[in-house]
Amino acid sequence: MIKDLVIDCHADTLMRKYFENMIPPLGSGKKLKFHVTKDFLNRGGVNIQVFAIFIPPKFEKLGVEITLEMISLARGMEKEGFILIKSQTDMKRIKENKKDNVGMILSLEGTVALERNQLLPIFHELGVRNIGLSWSRKNLFCEGVMFPERNIEGEGLSIHGKELVEQMETLGLMVDVSHLNEKGFSDVVKMATKPFIASHSNAYQLCQVIRNLKDDQLMQIASADGVVGINFCTAFLTNKNAKHASINDVIQHIVYIAELIGVEYVGLGSDFDGIVITPKGLENASKMKNIPPLLEKEGFSRQDIAKIMGGNFQRVFNKVWK
Ligand SMILES: [Zn+2]
Repeated sequence: MIKDLVIDCHADTLMRKYFENMIPPLGSGKKLKFHVTKDFLNRGGVNIQVFAIFIPPKFEKLGVEITLEMISLARGMEKEGFILIKSQTDMKRIKENKKDNVGMILSLEGTVALERNQLLPIFHELGVRNIGLSWSRKNLFCEGVMFPERNIEGEGLSIHGKELVEQMETLGLMVDVSHLNEKGFSDVVKMATKPFIASHSNAYQLCQVIRNLKDDQLMQIASADGVVGINFCTAFLTNKNAKHASINDVIQHIVYIAELIGVEYVGLGSDFDGIVITPKGLENASKMKNIPPLLEKEGFSRQDIAKIMGGNFQRVFNKVWK
């Protein structure tokens, strides 16, 4: 039987690995605890993990070097049974795979590594398939939402940002709007000719932080046939004391978004290894298997659950990648 793919669209595991492996001053050299490991993914039933390549603010000047190092780290994980996913065929192969291999999709979280060069096609060649246009800070292409709540205003996509989106669509790279400010978001809406995603963002209506998406933004993602991946960061899940956030809050964001824009447009983007506190019931990737039974309780059909768990992200990647 061919299984339905389970896809988590965002984890910062490479950043953690990078700082574990690098000696000071770049890294800590310390052994770290991970939310995402091959074993956890297998136990959680996750078939594909999107791994973000994130450049911390103080290392911006080393953006290209760190990006290459993190790609290299990811390639090193192939000996543990990870398989780099670059195409629809690779995704199909993971789907038919009878072993416990896990697919990995490489994603840039922010575009500082692209500011001073023409390396986008090279990063594509090396396997990058998803790019978050911004992290929280401003870059050459756009502005992110800063938090705590400041700099809500700010500019949309610059001329360079618009060129970048065009170039990404031509190459078959997914545009990711998580972290992008509202003006940048609406510029993407205006110019996108392909679906785009918010890999790790939640519903503002349920939790009023600037990183979450307003209803009209969620609707615009659906109109573009994109997908929103629910982020497990407790501060983005609930207005209550974030310490008490649980898997039920994740389910509530899924239910809310599915009711507002349709079950075809919601997925998962845990932010594991990027978040510090995890919701109860979702302590690491092995707990992803706790989600489907709770969705069933909410009345979702088996087919709908398969879409939420990964089918939707698979659909949009298929549509955008070449
Ligand atoms: Zn992020």
